[in-house]
Amino acid sequence: MTKKYYEDDADLSIIQGRTVAVIGYGSQGHAHSLSLRDSGVDVRIGLAEGSKSRAKAEAEGLRVVTVAEAAAEADLIMILTPDQVQAEVYKEHIAPNLQDGDALFFAHGFNIRYGFIQPPAGVDVALVAPKGPGHVVRREFEAGRGVPALIAVEQDASGQAKDLALAYAKGVGGTRAGVIETTFTEETETDLFGEQAVLCGGASQLIQYGFETLTEAGYQPEIAYFEVLHELKLIVDLMVEGGIAKQRWSVSDTAEYGDYVSGPRVIDERVKENMKAVLADIQDGTFAKRFMDDQAAGAPEFSKLRAAGEAHPIEKTGRELRQMFSWLKDSDDDYTEGTAA
Ligand code: NDP
Ligand code: MG
Ligand code: MG
Repeated sequence: MTKKYYEDDADLSIIQGRTVAVIGYGSQGHAHSLSLRDSGVDVRIGLAEGSKSRAKAEAEGLRVVTVAEAAAEADLIMILTPDQVQAEVYKEHIAPNLQDGDALFFAHGFNIRYGFIQPPAGVDVALVAPKGPGHVVRREFEAGRGVPALIAVEQDASGQAKDLALAYAKGVGGTRAGVIETTFTEETETDLFGEQAVLCGGASQLIQYGFETLTEAGYQPEIAYFEVLHELKLIVDLMVEGGIAKQRWSVSDTAEYGDYVSGPRVIDERVKENMKAVLADIQDGTFAKRFMDDQAAGAPEFSKLRAAGEAHPIEKTGRELRQMFSWLKDSDDDYTEGTAA
């Protein structure tokens, strides 16, 4: 059984004794900085000149300075910008302001795992990754609860990096729910695999194929949308509540029987072979290199793929149909706000 850490395993005074810089004020950045502040931690926010996030952070009474100033002032620097800009931000603004004894923190291991950031030997390098989108992390903290978090130590220069990571996790509410220790390698590889093979890539492709199969067979797109996309949430909610078993218990016997006989016909053992190939590309760095090379070139492949995805007929059908759901009225404005995976 994996060891879990709770409130009594973490000492908040360790993080209260540090000077913390949170770099970036997006999904995770706002949640970490506000909850750390409410936990009695000295926090400043580091943002680029002219950042769109500055006004939001200042409206919460947080002090906002440049990334370089934040890094210079702080002895614990949590990097919460998008993964693809972290190496540049680190090289330009953080590395020149790092001193032995400082700690460099992440919420995802990508840049350390693939060597895009190589910190000096004298700093602690650790990870605190809440397993939820930032607005949930913050909402749960404010409600007196917390979202489970992962911690990992890549480099323990001080000999105290794990206690520091646990203290940070406590400051953002993680130990209220429970903290599990992992490594940068395990967190990065499993996170990328999950989002690529199942949560984002797998689910999106499955839905699109289902929609295409029905509409190409002459069924109305509106009906297809309900059956292959809209109802997915009900199914996933049941799985989150009680596993696949609860989902099968809740649906009709017809649906459950169809699950057993047709599921393995759609997702057959070739899909597992494909998943293994995706995992191999994650493990050997092929995916990370492709992503970062494309970003460095101005993201031509990313932009093309995004445009193609948005042009899929299911998106037009969905935009029209969602007008029928009063409680989803403003939901099409939300998806610029940050991501979960
Ligand atoms: P967001 O995209 O929500 O945050 C972006 C923030 O970074 C904004 O404040 C943005 O400022 C700032 N920023 C962008 N570029 C720069 C730059 N060059 N210099 C300084 N600041 C910059 O990121 P997330 O919160 O989604 O992700 C942050 C980290 O957390 C990532 O490592 C991610 O993998 C990890 N993570 C994210 C989760 C999530 O739910 N989103 C869950 C767990 C981990 P501006 O307003 O100016 O653009
Ligand atoms: Mg049905
Ligand atoms: Mg992810």
